[in-house]
Amino acid sequence: MAKEELECSFCGRKKPETNLLIAGLDAHICDRCIEQAHGIVIEESKQNNTTDLSAELMLRKPIQIKSFLDEYIIGQEHTKRVMSVAVYNHYKRLLQPPSDDNIEIQKSNIIMVGQTGTGKTLMAKTIARMLNVPLAIVDATVLTEAGYVGEDVESILTRLLQAADYNLEKAEKGIVFIDEIDKIARKSDNPSITRDVSGEGVQQALLKLLEGTVVNVPPKGGRKHPDQKFIEVNTENILFIAGGAFDGIDRVISKRLNMQAVGYSASKAEEVVDHDNLLQYIIPKDLKDFGLIPEIIGRLPVLTFMDPLDANTLRAILTEPKNAIIKQYKKLFEMDDIKLSLTEGALEYIVEKAIEYKLGARGLRSLCEEVLTDAMFNLPGSDEKSLKVTKAYAEEKLSKTTLKKLKAVS
Ligand code: ADP
Repeated sequence: MAKEELECSFCGRKKPETNLLIAGLDAHICDRCIEQAHGIVIEESKQNNTTDLSAELMLRKPIQIKSFLDEYIIGQEHTKRVMSVAVYNHYKRLLQPPSDDNIEIQKSNIIMVGQTGTGKTLMAKTIARMLNVPLAIVDATVLTEAGYVGEDVESILTRLLQAADYNLEKAEKGIVFIDEIDKIARKSDNPSITRDVSGEGVQQALLKLLEGTVVNVPPKGGRKHPDQKFIEVNTENILFIAGGAFDGIDRVISKRLNMQAVGYSASKAEEVVDHDNLLQYIIPKDLKDFGLIPEIIGRLPVLTFMDPLDANTLRAILTEPKNAIIKQYKKLFEMDDIKLSLTEGALEYIVEKAIEYKLGARGLRSLCEEVLTDAMFNLPGSDEKSLKVTKAYAEEKLSKTTLKKLKAVS
């Protein structure tokens, strides 16, 4: 074949019409066909991943799930164990072959109770990352009963579909984290005659989703609309994790514990009660007394609590997790060939300020940002090749006004 007659064996383009023509044994392929074929390979491997998902999930036993969580989350031992078992059981249930013994394994949806910033969202994110399943994080406060201003509960599934790139099969095995579930608690104990738009009504609407049902989901979100096309999503295998701070629930717990103490042996009960962390004694009844309806509590059968973060935990959060804040800053500086180090004194000072100004774990990041911003502005491109942050350096960067400002925005 004469040189000018060379053409792509796939699309037939002549050599001059291509940017590149690669020769094989007795065929040629042009750059465009390579791109297309590459796209097909990626799509195919994505699809295979989906079908292999269940098998992959089974590989991790609870102990392995827990060690994965340990890499990212400091402390919270109790919740990590509980979560590991719940997640393991959930996916075991998913793989359960149809059997005729009539034993149907119930869903192990989870509810986590703990102050904000103690790692509830991080827990859900880490589980989703480990399983490589889509995760939707939704705020219960925006949900309202159908027909009222706000979002229908179906919007939760729209988010999950979006997180799964509209791959229905993936979405149906995903995880939904419902934050601030405590904000839809019934405000008073009497079921009122007037409608409780944002409270009980939403809880009722959530029930079906949690239990497992087929829901018509508007793929782009928004209100249901008569001529809108729906995607049918089955929530049967979706794992729901709810979280909330339940401010004031410690009083409910304390009251119950005191009543128990009167009922049983008072001295014995007092001996064991740790008043600094009452959440550890939480039972489903406390959630009911707080204002969740019993049906919701029944569909979130795994109840767990988050420990408050003390100075040691905050200190560890700064440097220990796989993607710890300080590791991230070091990497940022490294990209400019600058070696960042922080003395123990500086780290302890940052923790101290986070506690003093009640900024919690979330505040650690803003504090570090304040300490390092000047250096991140000045050092790139300068002759400095290292930065050592001491306590004095951190103190200088964190003036009282800055701290007050941080407190105001947190
Ligand atoms: P919550 O959902 O309980 O309000 P988050 O999970 O959003 O709290 O936590 C906020 C941030 O604080 C996280 O992104 C993480 O950086 C940090 N954090 C909180 N608790 C922990 C923890 N136990 N281990 C590691 N990091 C934590």
